[in-house]
Amino acid sequence: MTSGITLRVDPDKCQGHARCSALAPELFQLDEFGNARERLGTCSEPDQIDKAYVARANCPEEAIIITEG
Ligand code: SF4
Repeated sequence: MTSGITLRVDPDKCQGHARCSALAPELFQLDEFGNARERLGTCSEPDQIDKAYVARANCPEEAIIITEG
């Protein structure tokens, strides 16, 4: 069982499709260029963790990095 995750957006890969912030606005915010940044460095709430994985699955640039533990 996962106790928590670390969430990060790779700024070199993110192209600003904003799918992540649409799916999980509590986890991702957009900067002035429309590129995403993580709001929280770590997540431990199961609902947040689920949303982080959904966002990663929907990122066309594979820019969302999730590290377990
Ligand atoms: S979905 Fe991916 S590419 Fe699009 S804004 Fe989010 S992290 Fe960036």
